[in-house]
Amino acid sequence: MVIAKMDYWDNYYENERMEEIRTVNNLTAMAERTADRIAYEELKAQKEEEKKKADEAVRIAEEQKRKQAQEAMVNDILRQSPRYNQYILSLNTGDTGSGDTASRGGKKGEPVYASSHGKSLGKFVITAYCTCKICCGIYSGHNRTASGTVPTTNRTIAVDTNVIPFGTKVVFNGQVYVAEDKGGAINGNRIDLFFYTHKEALNWGKKTMEVYLAD
Ligand SMILES: [Zn+2]
Repeated sequence: MVIAKMDYWDNYYENERMEEIRTVNNLTAMAERTADRIAYEELKAQKEEEKKKADEAVRIAEEQKRKQAQEAMVNDILRQSPRYNQYILSLNTGDTGSGDTASRGGKKGEPVYASSHGKSLGKFVITAYCTCKICCGIYSGHNRTASGTVPTTNRTIAVDTNVIPFGTKVVFNGQVYVAEDKGGAINGNRIDLFFYTHKEALNWGKKTMEVYLAD
């Protein structure tokens, strides 16, 4: 029967076309899902990168804030110190000390040179002072250190006794010094080196040096 045969082939081809359409649709759906996933991964990576940048910005801002607070604290302490006020006064009046030896407290001592040293105490900021009112404010002219000794050049240093206890011999600048004094602004890794005249103290200025225990 010719008709029956035609129906058969019609159905056959129709089924085949349907199958083809289904396959194409499946492939399209798969391709769409893949494209979606790639876009999603891309977006996720971008968001992670943005979050990393934002976190870093917050970290930097916090670090800056912390540093500013620390500086403000140090400045507050400095402002409260009589030595700082006298120093500012000296800047304003131009009175930087006569630099002579009259009426200065303390005495002169010979340098004790160090040929060797013990263990390192780390790096210290080393400033200088004498007994004048610019350096010592209300304590000026006192002929005694905080530990009761007579401040002596080439020997006396002011320290933070939590870092270097009184009586400790230390080595820096090639010499041996003794921790005998302290000061309001001398905290942590700070040392104030005693000089007989204000001029000598000014000449020293401020140095950062490695400090060792004497052996
Ligand atoms: Zn001075």
